[in-house]
Amino acid sequence: MGMENDLDPFDGEAGEPLDTVVTLPTGLTGPDIAKACREAAVAFIDESKHWGKAELGMWLTGTYATLTRHASREKDAPVWPVPLLRDIDARLVARILESARAEILDSLALMAKDGSASFVLRALIAGTVTRCEDGAREPAWAPTGEAPRLADRVLSLFAVDYLGRPGDYETELCVCRQCETVTFDGIARQRGCNHGLQQSALAPRRHSTLPYPPIGA
Ligand SMILES: [Zn+2]
Repeated sequence: MGMENDLDPFDGEAGEPLDTVVTLPTGLTGPDIAKACREAAVAFIDESKHWGKAELGMWLTGTYATLTRHASREKDAPVWPVPLLRDIDARLVARILESARAEILDSLALMAKDGSASFVLRALIAGTVTRCEDGAREPAWAPTGEAPRLADRVLSLFAVDYLGRPGDYETELCVCRQCETVTFDGIARQRGCNHGLQQSALAPRRHSTLPYPPIGA
């Protein structure tokens, strides 16, 4: 590329515009987006067990659309073609939700187990997350809304959160496939999920520390 092309935004053989750095709206910082992405992604895991078509539609056109608006290259593109969602059979929606949840939990469980960040790498390569800057020119990350599959959409939100604060994923991420939960709790991570058992239900365990277990124990 010659010097004369340095300012040409349409440099490149395919005539594609060069990637320009997205600037977040004033007042919105990288940590704000990471926090909102984590909340939306964890809410998906927690709540989608009970969702139908209407709730999925609301999450996509509300929460998800709001988060992906800032870095989207196609500002007016629908996040999911509305007629398509309307025509989808309710049982198919249930299956899509279930398989998306399973895929997301598998990806996060792998990360919690051995630190594998492969889902983050896939998000970067697929362009479902992008680097951007906030108003103070601090680097940040944002979801682009370009993920075609539901699982990739939710994983792009976790990826943005991870890129903003990887330490949380190394020391606090706690995933339970059985309970289908994702939490950020360093103590729970050490201890392992108690699968919803209350502390009182765990109390009898202290008997196991007696030097002489009761007969029959
Ligand atoms: Zn559990």
